Amino acid sequence: MKKILLTLCAAVLTGCPFGSPAYTEWLMGTVCTVRFYGKSETAVAGNCFEAIREIERKISAVDPQSEVSAVNAGRQQTVSPLTGDLIAVSLKTAAETDGAFSPVLGRLTALWGFSGEAPRLPADEEIARLLPAARLSAAVYDSERHTVTLKSRQCAFDFGAVGKGYASDAVKKICEEAGATALIDLGGNIQTVGTKPDGTPWIISIRSPLTVGPAEAATLTLSGDWSLSTSGDYQKFFYENGVKYHHILDPATGKPADSGLRSVTVVSQRSGAETDALSTALFVMGETKGIEWQRRNPDVGVIWITRDNRLIVTGNLAGAFSPTADSPFTVSTLPLPPSNR
Ligand code: AMP
Ligand code: MG
Repeated sequence: MKKILLTLCAAVLTGCPFGSPAYTEWLMGTVCTVRFYGKSETAVAGNCFEAIREIERKISAVDPQSEVSAVNAGRQQTVSPLTGDLIAVSLKTAAETDGAFSPVLGRLTALWGFSGEAPRLPADEEIARLLPAARLSAAVYDSERHTVTLKSRQCAFDFGAVGKGYASDAVKKICEEAGATALIDLGGNIQTVGTKPDGTPWIISIRSPLTVGPAEAATLTLSGDWSLSTSGDYQKFFYENGVKYHHILDPATGKPADSGLRSVTVVSQRSGAETDALSTALFVMGETKGIEWQRRNPDVGVIWITRDNRLIVTGNLAGAFSPTADSPFTVSTLPLPPSNR
């Protein structure tokens, strides 16, 4: 029996008060919301959604008319600055995560079909044929000429793991230029922009990846500008013969990452694009490699929820973090590196 479930928001927002108007559209295959604090910003919201639409038109791997589809089909090598910047940040994050995040998995993700109505379990031979093309070196981008080279017909861009975060950066820029305080949520890729007029902090709820018990696992109380992104095995998946197959692929195997995790939330003051890509990468890495990676990147905060119901939070988030009452997770906090204590 097959079952597909799409959970739209990896994180949910709490405490949305009256008088903070929210604007919502369905874009990039998800619910996109911009909530303003202070005053109504209908024109700004319109500009935000137009920016998301433009990004989607260029970077969608499923729209045959998009720029990225033309690159994937070998029809085009020169790209717009918008697509070029996304390729650049994607290749940088791929290198920083040793290829755990790989934007050139497009043929593999298409094979599994998670972005369509009927995902399926491919044969091992089909996966093996495409696997060599998922390597880090499969794409080269020249940022001066804005040209991109995909080295094999077997690789194709898929920006599903970074595109919504990238779009949230564009939305943030529009809000900042308009002087608006805002909370941006593009399908669980969240950015907080500015300080609310009443001075109260942002309260962001981290969703529980379990279908039983409280819907939220924890809350974060944050001041100022932050990017948050959650990747989880509960967001898109199907069952075949009792085995769960989810949408985050390990580029080393071409199969759903079997990393012992249910979800990873990244909280950082890096761009939305990097934060989005990092939550996917850290999901693939699993607990041990992910903790090592975070030690080398102490500006990034991480919350891991494991399949055996442990919740691990990095020390740099300890002051912001509150576990939800009745949550089934055993919480532990990683110590800060000695220089930060
Ligand atoms: P996210 O929900 O941000 O973790 O992104 C998951 C989506 O990114 C999937 O639906 C695929 O389209 C794509 N994807 C899956 N595995 C990877 C990976 N290891 N690196 C980059 N993109 C991936
Ligand atoms: Mg991601």
